[in-house]
Amino acid sequence: MSITVPPSIGVTMFSGNLRSSEELLKQADIAMYQSKTDGRNTLRFFDPEMQEIVTQRASLETDLREALEQRQFVVYYQPQVVGDGRYTGAEALVRWRHPQRGLVSPQDFIPLCEETGLILPLGHWVLETACMQLAKWAEKPGMDHLSIAVNVSANQFHQANFVDQVLAVLRNAGANPHKLTLELTESILVSDVENIIAKMSILKGHGVTFSLDDFGTGYSSLSYLKRLPLDQLKIDQSFVRNILTEPNDAAIAKTIISLSDSLSLRVIAEGGEIDAQKDFLARYGCHAFQGYLFSKPVPIEKFEQLLKSRHT
Ligand code: C2E
Ligand code: CA
Ligand code: CA
Repeated sequence: MSITVPPSIGVTMFSGNLRSSEELLKQADIAMYQSKTDGRNTLRFFDPEMQEIVTQRASLETDLREALEQRQFVVYYQPQVVGDGRYTGAEALVRWRHPQRGLVSPQDFIPLCEETGLILPLGHWVLETACMQLAKWAEKPGMDHLSIAVNVSANQFHQANFVDQVLAVLRNAGANPHKLTLELTESILVSDVENIIAKMSILKGHGVTFSLDDFGTGYSSLSYLKRLPLDQLKIDQSFVRNILTEPNDAAIAKTIISLSDSLSLRVIAEGGEIDAQKDFLARYGCHAFQGYLFSKPVPIEKFEQLLKSRHT
């Protein structure tokens, strides 16, 4: 029997100013992890930038744990509208109000949250916040029709008790499940589709709806798409951005619209910034939008102001 062992090798060099052996081993270790990251079966030399990245990550992780305890996160809401500009609801998008760095974009901390598992408590908190908001809106005339879409990461969804968590959050908040949409991405679909369908079906039975986010950017098997109890496809902003100039992006957007139609799914376009993009999409049958054209994600007070100014 032959066994192949692809090595990942980290090397560090020193001359003259000899540091402690621990320090040298740590540097070689960092370089070794870099060669693993770079695809294994390779060799990397330590370079101080690697150390810098590791140190920054470690401090970001500490900051994120503190941020959760100290409630430094805040949910922003981006309007979702239909054709004439009428608000139907919002997508909940998390922000980090960092005491020194100001408002930090999720792109700068969600990936690390995913790696460290912090996405579980953070995602749960976003869901709670959104459901409490739904319960408040239900009491306010002119706002009781609004729904909220919450992003659910693959790690969150794959927790064994995910369904119970969502139902408990809805119950505790006193929110109407019919007003809650969970946004999933295609990355959820890589394994165990039966289990995914089972989880979605239970939640759907309680009224929760599902949207497939960033549609068209990942790997999606059309046969899965048919079997999943979805309600909506979300056309990714990368297609919307160039819809007027790139025939391929326009063709993909049109295909997603007609696909939604044939599968009896609703469709919403994300990232529209100008009227012409919206008009193009509307011409092909997409009448729901979420983009800077209507509003960027904003704090809740601002969202409610915008809503009132549109509807009065
Ligand atoms: P996403 O779920 O695809 O959310 C849409 C992103 O597109 C938001 O970025 C939104 O601000 C941006 N966007 C919407 N319309 C436009 C437009 O017209 N032009 C441009 N340039 N951008 C537009 P944001 O808020 O920075 O969020 C980035 C990503 O972070 C989200 O992408 C989502 O993947 C992740 N994220 C945010 N909040 C959460 C959360 O609570 N849980 C999880 N798991 N992920 C989240
Ligand atoms: Ca989303
Ligand atoms: Ca998206």
